Amino acid sequence: MSSNHELFQRARQVLPGGVNSPVRAFKSVGGEPFFTARADGAYLWDVEGKRYIDYVGSWGPMIAGHNHPQVREAVERAVRNGLSFGTPSPDEVIMGETLVDLIPSLDVVRMVNSGTEATMSAIRVARGATGRNKIIKFEGCYHGHADSFLVKAGSGALTFGVPTSPGVPKAVADLTLTATYNDLDSVRALFEAEGADIAGLIVEPVAGNMNCIPPSPGFLEGLRALCDEFGSVLIFDEVMTGFRVALGGAQAYYGISPDLTTFGKIIGAGMPVGAYGGKRELMEQVAPAGPIYQAGTLSGNPVAMAAGLALLEVIRADGFHARLEQQTLNLLRGLQAAADAAGVPFSTRQAGAMFGLFFSADTVDSYAAATRADIAAFNRFFQAMLERGVYLAPSAFEAGFLSSAHDDEVIEATLLSARESFASL
Ligand code: PMP
Repeated sequence: MSSNHELFQRARQVLPGGVNSPVRAFKSVGGEPFFTARADGAYLWDVEGKRYIDYVGSWGPMIAGHNHPQVREAVERAVRNGLSFGTPSPDEVIMGETLVDLIPSLDVVRMVNSGTEATMSAIRVARGATGRNKIIKFEGCYHGHADSFLVKAGSGALTFGVPTSPGVPKAVADLTLTATYNDLDSVRALFEAEGADIAGLIVEPVAGNMNCIPPSPGFLEGLRALCDEFGSVLIFDEVMTGFRVALGGAQAYYGISPDLTTFGKIIGAGMPVGAYGGKRELMEQVAPAGPIYQAGTLSGNPVAMAAGLALLEVIRADGFHARLEQQTLNLLRGLQAAADAAGVPFSTRQAGAMFGLFFSADTVDSYAAATRADIAAFNRFFQAMLERGVYLAPSAFEAGFLSSAHDDEVIEATLLSARESFASL
């Protein structure tokens, strides 16, 4: 088998930057990525046989750990019946019913193939239903790579310092207004200036693409009230938070009901899946029920539906999310103690099983504060942890994820590496 280095050399010849999604290339933390050969529970193994405790979890889907037997068996059963039919299939109905049951704000839902598809479709519905063209997003929030969202975006776009991408027409970018996360005044100012043109507002209810920044008290409530006042569609992008911060997502965790919600990651259990849905009067305007067009050859794919349904079954177990949140708090408490002992300025944020690590002594509650944290220190910490077999998200602007496979032993091993890593900074 090739080494990580050999594979990366080959990859760079045929894939842009050697990868199929930018953050995987380790460009912001430095060094070369490892190539995963297999994954199980809380662990990844690279092609050279090195084991890593994984806090990325395929960027969110692996909330019950990698290669969960119930999910794997559901996929194996589904595969025997064929990979794709191009007709409706029963599991699509069950998935729709399950999502509507788990998320009270959903009356009707459409399955798609990625988070990006979900968000671009949701704003089409907002625009089609209101007859308005502009949308509001927040600086540092990432909603996938559709043209309308690559304006002051987070995640890889933030990591690489190109928040606005070449190739996004100015005419399209002009329709995206940008506000400041956790700053309601900035949102009100946009509505007061252009409210009659604003179709909708899209927000990560817990920001997870500028590191992890939960909403300040009153922020989501204020967005709900402003959208109501100006007749705009409130869209929660729960691609990351859905089924993670709570079974009912961030909207259940914080008790705010959006008009539309987008999902991805966990509902596909690692298969390429997204979904968008919400109020009946909005979603009944989507084709073929209504005139707003959106389609997908592989949408509702039977293998993906089987995987997602199996995982949703696993995480519906009593106390699943409470235990996961407790374990996340245990990890963060231990990391904080390790940083304090080493005299490293450090703070953490968290919502459910989603967390952020900041090399900053202050509590980070804004995009500006996240970008002020010591990025070089994070990068050194990342490398020190990686060397010791702990894989954190390879950027200071990504959230971390825990799974139910991160048991006490895994957390203790992580903290042991963290004590050494903080001390080595
Ligand atoms: N929205 C959010 C909040 C995300 O975190 C992401 C991806 N991390 C997306 C949308 C885009 O999803 P995908 O990468 O599946 O297109």
